Amino acid sequence: MKLATKMIHAGAHPDPSTGAIMTPIYQTSTYVQEAPGKHKGFEYARSQNPTRQALEEALAIIENGKFGLSFSSGVAATDAVIKLLQPGDEVIAANDMYGGTYRLFTKVFEKFGIKFLYTDTTDPENINSLITNNTKLVWLETPTNPLMNVTDISAVSLITKSKNILLCVDNTFASPYLQNPLDHGADIVMHSATKYLGGHSDVIQGALVMNDADLREKLYFIQKSCGAVPGPMDCFLVLRGIKTLHLRMQRHSENGAKIAHHLRNNPKVKKVYWCGFEDHRGYAIAKKQMRDFGGMMSFTLKDDSDAAARKVLSSTKLFSLAESLGGVESLINHPSSMTHASIPREERIKNGLTDGLIRLSVGVEDAEDLIADLDNAIG
Ligand SMILES: *Cc1c(COP(=O)(O)O)cnc(C)c1O
Repeated sequence: MKLATKMIHAGAHPDPSTGAIMTPIYQTSTYVQEAPGKHKGFEYARSQNPTRQALEEALAIIENGKFGLSFSSGVAATDAVIKLLQPGDEVIAANDMYGGTYRLFTKVFEKFGIKFLYTDTTDPENINSLITNNTKLVWLETPTNPLMNVTDISAVSLITKSKNILLCVDNTFASPYLQNPLDHGADIVMHSATKYLGGHSDVIQGALVMNDADLREKLYFIQKSCGAVPGPMDCFLVLRGIKTLHLRMQRHSENGAKIAHHLRNNPKVKKVYWCGFEDHRGYAIAKKQMRDFGGMMSFTLKDDSDAAARKVLSSTKLFSLAESLGGVESLINHPSSMTHASIPREERIKNGLTDGLIRLSVGVEDAEDLIADLDNAIG
C-alpha cells in the first residue's frame, strides 16, 4: 500500500457493534466479563482499550513496523524505553536533542545509575568511540531540534547491530511521512504524537513503534506496569490527525522550502538551519533517508543576540510565540529561553545553540502571508 492510502486506512475497521466507520471513543475503565476470566480480550483500560488499539495498529502501519504502543506523552514514551535498562548500563545520545529528553536523562535517570554520554552523532565514528561493554542503547534524533543536524540512521545501525545495542530514533521532527527509521535499521521509533501526528495542537501524546515481538512484550509490560497510557479521546484525536498527515506534510514542506530560501536572502539574516539546502552538511543523507524536508527550521540574525531575537519573537502576528511544533498553525520559538532552557547555557553555546537562535514551525497557511509576517518582524 502507498503512503497516502495507509494514512487513511491504517487501523480503521468498522466498529463491530454498529458499523461506525470511525473507531468510537471507548470511554470506559473496565469491561464486563461473562464468567471469571471469560472476556472479549479487554479486561481493564490501562492494559487494553479499543480506541488505543486502533491507534497503535495505525502507528505501526504508517511507520512500516509490526507493533505500535501509545503513551500519555512523548516523554512518557522515552521514559518507557529507558526503563528497559538497568543500573550500570550506558546510553549514547545526540548532543543537540530535545531539551525535555536531556532533562529526563540527566535529572531523572542518572540517579538510578544509568550513564548518559552525549556526542555529535552526525559523525557515526563519534558513537563508535564511546561504546563500551555496558552500552545498551543509542538514542538519535534526526533532524535535530533545533539545529537541524542530520544523522545517517543506517550507518549508525550498522554499528549498533554489530554490537547488540538497541537503536532508538526520535522521529518527531520528520514524522512518518518524511522518514521511516525502521526501514534504515532502527530498532525503535519514538514520536511525540503531540506534534505532527496529532497535527492540530490539541493533544499531548507519545508513541513507540518496533518490529521485534520480544521488545514489544517488554515495552508493553512497562506501558501497563508504569501506567503512562493516553485516554481514549486523545487516541481518537491522533487517529484523526493521521488521516491528513500526508496532506499537511506536503504543505509544511512546500511552505518550509519557500520560507527557508526567502530568509536566506534577507540581508539581516546570518544563517538559516534547514536540511533542504543543497549546501547543508547533511543534505546528501537527508535526501537519502527522507522523502522531503518539512517545515522545521531555525535562523539567526546578523545581530545574534538575545535582545535582537526577542524583538522578532514579539513582533510576528501570524507566527505565534509558543513552545511545541507540528500543528497546522505557524509557531515561532526562542530555544534558549523556552524549549531548551533546561540545558545549561555553556552546554548550549558549545553546541551552537546561541541566545539569538530563533526556531520556526512553519504551518500550512499561505506561504506569502507567512513570508510577509517574518519580513515585517525582522524589519
Ligand atoms: C515535544 C518533543 C518531545 C516530547 O514530547 P511530549 O509529547 O511533549 O512529551 C520529544 N522529542 C521531540 C523532538 C519533541 O519535539
